[in-house]
Amino acid sequence: MNRSNSHLSNAWARIHPVPIVRGKGSFVFDDQGNRYLDFTSGIAVTSTGHCHPKVVEAIQRQAESLIFGQMNCVIPAVTMDYARELAEVCPEGIDSFFFSNSGSEAVEGAVKLAKVATGKTNLIAFSGGFHGRTSMAMALTTSKGVVRSGYQPLPSGVFIAPFPTAFHLGWTEEEATRFCLDRLQEMLKSQTRPQETAACILEPILGEGGYLPAPAAFLQGLRQICDQNGILLILDEIQTGFGRTGSMWVHQAMNVEPDILTIAKGMGSGLPISGIGCSGEMMSKWQPGTHGGTYGGGSAIAMAAARATLQVIQEEGLVENASEQGRHLRQTLEEIVDPLDMKTDVRGAGLMLGVEFCTDQPGWVPSLQEECLRRGLILLNCGLDGNVVRFVPPLTVSADEIDQAMAILREAVQAIA
Ligand code: PMP
Repeated sequence: MNRSNSHLSNAWARIHPVPIVRGKGSFVFDDQGNRYLDFTSGIAVTSTGHCHPKVVEAIQRQAESLIFGQMNCVIPAVTMDYARELAEVCPEGIDSFFFSNSGSEAVEGAVKLAKVATGKTNLIAFSGGFHGRTSMAMALTTSKGVVRSGYQPLPSGVFIAPFPTAFHLGWTEEEATRFCLDRLQEMLKSQTRPQETAACILEPILGEGGYLPAPAAFLQGLRQICDQNGILLILDEIQTGFGRTGSMWVHQAMNVEPDILTIAKGMGSGLPISGIGCSGEMMSKWQPGTHGGTYGGGSAIAMAAARATLQVIQEEGLVENASEQGRHLRQTLEEIVDPLDMKTDVRGAGLMLGVEFCTDQPGWVPSLQEECLRRGLILLNCGLDGNVVRFVPPLTVSADEIDQAMAILREAVQAIA
């Protein structure tokens, strides 16, 4: 068949423009029959692997009984079942949910809820954060200028505090943490006072911003500042959630609890679904009709996929696998990049790993991606300068598949060295 891109918007970056017709586990297949190891998981979405049989079966079964039930009119039983099961894997106190379709929608909703719950107007986000493409989400996003460029002015009442990027500052984590917490305190005195600040929103590990984990001490300090000032803490775990980092939620590993949690991506194995979680008390501040959407919570198929995803994560021990395979992947990445004649940084958690390549050679990272692609490995990059390559295989990935991917990476590095 003669397929072309000519009817598709140019807005998509299209790192791999070949038509993909099939996916299975860690692999996707193009219409020429070529096989690729997918170490992007569609930006951390297909966490149970492509077309996991249990997810496929749940979708098929649900499609035969109920496809949609609008939440203001009826409630699909599967939505109630999923909310109950989700509460069981969320931290104590996060037991009430609003569902929507995309990460951006969850962020918009979380911000609306924070404003209503506190009666305050302003928000603090952190430099390098990515929270989405809708207006408020763009205003909170500073991972890369291209996300905001051409859309200014964006909603006001948003203040950007520094994120503790010790690696880039050339400081220790303690120094970066202290500096950033001090700047935040200063911001609360000089730019947005506590009585007008509804919430701080943070990705515990910057995703699009370069796979940069915040030190746990920074999160703990931030929690303390929020508590002392009556400010809510929204943790955006849209990319880090559902086992991706080797814990169900990365904030658990950092010993900090959010007031509001935003979730999406790995939640539905590819079906569009997202959510906001918080306490029942906080959720009750949202009066009927003050937030909503046609599809959120009502897509019984997305709910069935999310339910099956959670089941697979638990039954197949995928959180543990993310942790174990993450260690293997990190170690192999270090073996490959440490000998290179440039400064590198392997970082992240579980199966959310990034390698920053500090080189002046223009196009080095795109060339590396290209060489990997030619050999059958799809990789994404991220970071302000695009020089961080991310490794985000499905949580089902095996040691053997990691070894295959790393053999390709090794060859690709040699090819461009
Ligand atoms: N928050 C985070 C942390 C994300 O990684 C993303 C997507 N990359 C979003 C929000 C926005 O999600 P979506 O693209 O589904 O709107």
